Amino acid sequence: PLILGIETSCDETGVGIVRGQTLLADAIASSVEEHARFGGVVPEVASRAHLEAMVPTIRRACETAGIKPTDVDAVAVTSGPGLAGALLVGVAAAKGLALSLDKPLYGVNHLAAHVAVDTLEHGDLPKGAIAMLVSGGHSSLLAVEDITEGVQPMGSTIDDAAGEAFDKVARVLGLPFPGGPYIDKAARDGGDRLYVRFPRGLTSQRDLERHRFDFSFSGLKTAVARWVESRRRDGEDVPVNHVAAAFQEAVCDVLTRKAIDACKDRGYEHLLIGGGVAANSRLRQMAEERCAAAGIAVRVPRPGLCTDNGAMVAALGSELVRAGKAPSPLGLPADSSMPITEVLNK
Ligand code: ATP
Ligand code: MG
Ligand code: FE
Repeated sequence: PLILGIETSCDETGVGIVRGQTLLADAIASSVEEHARFGGVVPEVASRAHLEAMVPTIRRACETAGIKPTDVDAVAVTSGPGLAGALLVGVAAAKGLALSLDKPLYGVNHLAAHVAVDTLEHGDLPKGAIAMLVSGGHSSLLAVEDITEGVQPMGSTIDDAAGEAFDKVARVLGLPFPGGPYIDKAARDGGDRLYVRFPRGLTSQRDLERHRFDFSFSGLKTAVARWVESRRRDGEDVPVNHVAAAFQEAVCDVLTRKAIDACKDRGYEHLLIGGGVAANSRLRQMAEERCAAAGIAVRVPRPGLCTDNGAMVAALGSELVRAGKAPSPLGLPADSSMPITEVLNK
């Protein structure tokens, strides 16, 4: 089937077009620069930007894919979770498109889409895998038998999300927003990951008893901020590259350790990693190394498909259509706090 997917949960207006598991177009317009000076995404600004970018982005995707809107078999859209006003723009556009084309509409979960996007790179998802979702707003370990049926949460962050920690630490280091890619780059530019050993949250024997598959990054963020402040107070230079590398090492160490532990707990031999932080070069490298040693096959989409995009929404829509799932009602709402267990808005 030919599926058009629309993503507007945050600051990216994304329109993706897929045929089955083949990516035909992935058009994106981002309002990130408009938010940068505020150090975070401003919801009102994001909604307005989506409204302006929506039709041109749909046009651009259709041109790239070499299709007409009337060729589309179904429309998929992120119906949650995300910023309420931003979601509304995408959902309204998708409804209009589905209604005018007289085609089914699938309101899908943004987080499940971060996992499903890997089908575009590596084909069918394995039957039985742990999915580690690490993004700007979420950090979770999920057991996935069949993504079209739902996911089973095993654990998640008890405070900050991994991406949030990257963004906050970047700010402390004076790097631009959103900080993840800048920390990645600073670390790669000669950063010494063993320069300081920052704390690994929820990994003590005692914490593991209650929080084996949960994460905590707020203590790490505070530890980095304290370390940097004390250096500055002493009038010493802050070695940004080393601190970035050491912070990144702490995050990746905990993520990969717990993900592999979750695979072992479930007896799964596959690990999927998705979400913006999955674009991180050190996380990808460490996951490869540690999973290889543990006999686990790891799948991570290419960096451009890890951060928000429309292709991921089309990919999940396509899996749902292929599985014969009934579409969402045309009256479907935007659900800013859509639970991760709900893959499709019914
Ligand atoms: P959610 O998916 O939870 O709703 P979101 O959609 O805002 O949140 P994503 O676009 O999936 O988040 O991811 C954005 C996050 O990924 C940001 O916090 C950003 O800093 C982080 N990120 C992007 N690239 C990298 C990288 N190379 N290294 C580390 N973090 C990164
Ligand atoms: Mg974004
Ligand atoms: Fe996202």
